Amino acid sequence: MDSQRASLHPLDIGLIRGYAIFDFFRTVRGSALFLEDYLTRFINSARKARLPLSYDRDSLRKIIEELIQKNSLEEGGIRMVLSGGISENFFTPSKGPLFIFCESLKLPGAEKYQQGVQLASVDYVRPIAEIKTTNYTLPCLLSTEWAANGIEDVLYHHQGIVSESSRSNVFIVKKGVISTPGKHILKGITRQKVMDLAPYVLVRDITLDEVMQADELFMTSTTKRILPITSVDQTIIGRGVPGPVTQDLLRKFERFEASTVAA
Ligand code: PLP
Repeated sequence: MDSQRASLHPLDIGLIRGYAIFDFFRTVRGSALFLEDYLTRFINSARKARLPLSYDRDSLRKIIEELIQKNSLEEGGIRMVLSGGISENFFTPSKGPLFIFCESLKLPGAEKYQQGVQLASVDYVRPIAEIKTTNYTLPCLLSTEWAANGIEDVLYHHQGIVSESSRSNVFIVKKGVISTPGKHILKGITRQKVMDLAPYVLVRDITLDEVMQADELFMTSTTKRILPITSVDQTIIGRGVPGPVTQDLLRKFERFEASTVAA
């Protein structure tokens, strides 16, 4: 169906309470990259959010394959959104509508990988962080300000401990050791791939001070892959340029991505 004809009931709690889940993945040369990982996360998000999903994994996969084929989608993105549905008491979810649609994708430009990007820290804990909900109120609110100040995104922290960025996970490198937070985060598919590709990654609490004193800092996400961060709150990280560990992981990730699509 043409996406302009899709509709959402005004009483759907996805709209009036912000209660909905989603997932998003890329297509590379006409193949859905790491599709099974994204399907697992989407199905788990629905279960944890107590949202009935009318399609099983096989049906979802079939719909996605058809969508890619009908739209001749070579390099793009696919979004699956499951809304909370109409609720008598305006809280309890019901069987809500599922939207699956493709999008064109704007990946970060080469200069961001060459120079790194800037983050701004914000004291915030994402509610029910382990579920991929559509609640991005804070970054939506702040994004105009960031854009005006050349800031790529936020770095969430609370009581001195960092968690993640608004749409990405974060990693630090200190004296060759790679670490990433494990609490109050969405477990990113890219984060997991990086953990598989890196020789060793410590999952532990990381303080904001440690971030500021790291040799390297990078963020991972479906659209950014592995993006170097060279300053936080205007404090230069390491030497202020993308570091060797980050660059090596990005090369490994690119090779892995290419081999996954070719397979
Ligand atoms: N953390 C949050 C809050 C996100 O929204 C996302 C992606 O949208 C990520 C982390 C990174 O996850 P992934 O690598 O699966 O894109």
